Amino acid sequence: MSMTIDGSILGGRILVVDDMPTNLRLLASILSDRYQVSAASNGRDALRLAERVQPDLIILDVEMPGMNGHEVCRTLKEKPEFRHVPIIFLTGRSDEADEILGLQLGAVDYITKPFNQAVVRARIHTHLELKRYSDLLQRHAFIDGLTGLPNRRRLDQYLNELSTGERSGADSLSVLMIDVDFFKAYNDRYGHLAGDHCLREVAATLAAARRRGDDLLARYGGEEFALLMPGADRTVALDQAQRLRDAMLRAELPHRDQPDTGQVTISVGTSSGALSAEPAQALIERADRALYQAKKEGRNRVVQL
Ligand SMILES: [Mg+2]
Repeated sequence: MSMTIDGSILGGRILVVDDMPTNLRLLASILSDRYQVSAASNGRDALRLAERVQPDLIILDVEMPGMNGHEVCRTLKEKPEFRHVPIIFLTGRSDEADEILGLQLGAVDYITKPFNQAVVRARIHTHLELKRYSDLLQRHAFIDGLTGLPNRRRLDQYLNELSTGERSGADSLSVLMIDVDFFKAYNDRYGHLAGDHCLREVAATLAAARRRGDDLLARYGGEEFALLMPGADRTVALDQAQRLRDAMLRAELPHRDQPDTGQVTISVGTSSGALSAEPAQALIERADRALYQAKKEGRNRVVQL
């Protein structure tokens, strides 16, 4: 076995789809020494199996009775979880128009039957490697380097998934905007390295005080964090906001320039609403106004608007 750049063992799950049992057997025989291979003999089974095994790569016969390969590809690419899964078409024809259509549908490659086994193996290996690199880049692009939390870009992407319905769930959304009190004074007194350490502590404390594991906690920028709670109503959001504030107090991080407590505190602004009634951005802005109000009223508190 060889290792990839992120240290994982090379391998992966491959779904092969072909209406000819001999082709399925042949592909399985040349791939199953390195990969976990699942096989489907028609489009419907392919879609079902894809949901279940979550393949890293799909080899898809174009010509099949019933749902053909292009239709299967189109259906898969409509779902966010398969959008980045490479699809390689298999075809008996060497028809250029067919090939172009496949590539337009999002296929990464095309293999014409009858195929050379070594070439098929090499191409699949290449596409899985590329997939691994792009997954890795994707992960890094959406993570804040200091705290390890999702970053602002990821938050925007998540909001977009919510508002376009890509992320299914309830229509309601609660937003918490969280800001560390007197953080500039903290940096001035203790230095920026200590400031960075403080932000990591705050991030870990907030993450541990989340009541619902699926809620997205992100670093919004500077000393500001955001918690997105899809499906949560005002009561749940307010309870969560107070828990975050309490958790910070229990963490007892010293801060001599927080005049009331002598330790690090946060202010939280929260808003809730229905995505069908107002855009997510409006909820963010309302939570931001609530946060501003919490600051104005003396910090270390929660304001709900
Ligand atoms: Mg066929």
